[in-house]
Amino acid sequence: MQISDQFNSSHTKGTRLTRVRATLTHILKSDHGPFSVAELLQRLRVRGLRANKTTVYRQLEFFRREDLIKEVNLGEKQSRYEWSERDHHHHVVCLKCRKVEAVRLSENLQRQERFIEQEKKFIINHHELEFFGLCRKCQ
Ligand SMILES: [Zn+2]
Ligand SMILES: [Zn+2]
Repeated sequence: MQISDQFNSSHTKGTRLTRVRATLTHILKSDHGPFSVAELLQRLRVRGLRANKTTVYRQLEFFRREDLIKEVNLGEKQSRYEWSERDHHHHVVCLKCRKVEAVRLSENLQRQERFIEQEKKFIINHHELEFFGLCRKCQ
């Protein structure tokens, strides 16, 4: 391989990686999540970007190091990922079709956190609370 070819291929690869990262950022920021890696791959494909699992995992790792995303565990085999800048919220998860929706509680849980902190002499960093059941379609 000539030097110019090497340069070209790595240059093309670099550009594609940048596009994958930019597109993932866009998807995570604006689409309805939280997303599994498979869902992210599918959304990249819809936008005409071919990427493999390893690439997506690497990008997610980058986002996580930068504190841009958080991992959401909904009791599935795989984790889901969500942009962390979003307003504080919880999720409702359909046990049948696995549809996930964001919900905001009418009461925030700060009072409960203070109560637990006093009761347990424990300093709370954050909490996770998800609701599981059947969506309107699956009832
Ligand atoms: Zn459902
Ligand atoms: Zn909360």
